[in-house]
Amino acid sequence: MKVFKFGGASVDSVSRIRRLPAILNNYDSEKLLIVISAMGKTTNALEKVAEAFYSRDLPKALEQFGNIKQEHLEIAETLGASDNSRLLQRMGDVFTEVEWLLHDRPTRAFNYYYDQIVCIGELLSTTIISHYLQTSGISNQWVDVRDIFATDDQFQDANINWEITSTRLRDQILPLFGKTKIVLTQGFIGSTGANESTTLGREGSDYSAAIFANLLDAESLTIWKDVEGVMNADPKAFPDAIYIRELGYEEVIEMAFYGAQVIHPKTIKPLQNKNIPLHVKCFLDPDLPGTLIHSKHITNLPPIIVLKQNQVLIHLSSRDFSFVGEEGTARLYNMLSEFHIQANLLQTGAVILQVCTDNIPVKIEKLAHEASELFDVQVENGLTLLTIRHYQKELLEKLIRGRKIVLQQWSLDTVQTLML
Ligand code: ASP
Ligand code: MG
Repeated sequence: MKVFKFGGASVDSVSRIRRLPAILNNYDSEKLLIVISAMGKTTNALEKVAEAFYSRDLPKALEQFGNIKQEHLEIAETLGASDNSRLLQRMGDVFTEVEWLLHDRPTRAFNYYYDQIVCIGELLSTTIISHYLQTSGISNQWVDVRDIFATDDQFQDANINWEITSTRLRDQILPLFGKTKIVLTQGFIGSTGANESTTLGREGSDYSAAIFANLLDAESLTIWKDVEGVMNADPKAFPDAIYIRELGYEEVIEMAFYGAQVIHPKTIKPLQNKNIPLHVKCFLDPDLPGTLIHSKHITNLPPIIVLKQNQVLIHLSSRDFSFVGEEGTARLYNMLSEFHIQANLLQTGAVILQVCTDNIPVKIEKLAHEASELFDVQVENGLTLLTIRHYQKELLEKLIRGRKIVLQQWSLDTVQTLML
């Protein structure tokens, strides 16, 4: 069995959705578990609906939701849904559920409502595409992944319960393959024991696909994108960026950690743990080789460049010149963990600790507030973090020329420069 994942960009228009049958026909002798994201920028649009709802602006929430409805209906109709088809009815059920919720007044935390609203992006895309494939002669079984992926109730960033999910896969997904070759479902979403919808964090569909691959012992996972494969830098910022044909798991997990927008950082572990190869391929030209990511250690890689904008540097200095020491460092790590803050760079000195993180003001305020019990706290905004793996000196010099360097850290194969 193979697992495929199609991202939002691969299904963002009728013309792109119409490419799917040809791609799938190339695999007609295989069993496929297919994970599909919400279409295009639907998730962003649904986030706006959730925000309007939570700020009690019902007209705005309804108007924005109306636009999302309209877009999906138009796509469904262009793809051939007739007026009173089962598809339109199923879409209608999804719409109604959200509209009911929008008319309620919020009594719970924002995260909860976010998940109940945002999850429908993938429900709609998969419902439409499943129906379209069916009418194109590609029979498939649609599954609501919320019946399969069990999570805790950390809304917006839910954690999978592997045990329950694994049992459900065995009992509910595997038998489907006795009747169909294609099981089509959503990424990014799951549900709690109380049947509340949850989401796994933005861009989480890659991770969902990797969980399926792991639990189904898939032969491989293929992530279909609108680019040729993984590049050594973002081509928008670096026009000389090149494709890399083969990478090791470790390289990719590091790239993702440092902020490369290749794949969701959590994707690699479930694959590495079962030694499942990951192919990144271009759905616009499936004959291109793409990128293969597997357990091999690849040498002679080009420099891999990751730029992270909008960084802050938090300086924590001891008040009376006493050493920061283990206790101060431990306190900092505890706060990072408590407030779910990722340290993109961390440096300890005698009387000062410095930590660079993404600029998420609510989190930083909490950290600054708590840290001020112990330290003098200063926060520096508007920074850029440049990470280069397998660096070459000339390249580094070129990329930091004219910039004010705030902090720099070197290891044997990676150099990180935080700059203004
Ligand atoms: N639709 C979700 C998002 O845009 C999940 C995903 O695409 O991976 O974040
Ligand atoms: Mg996406």
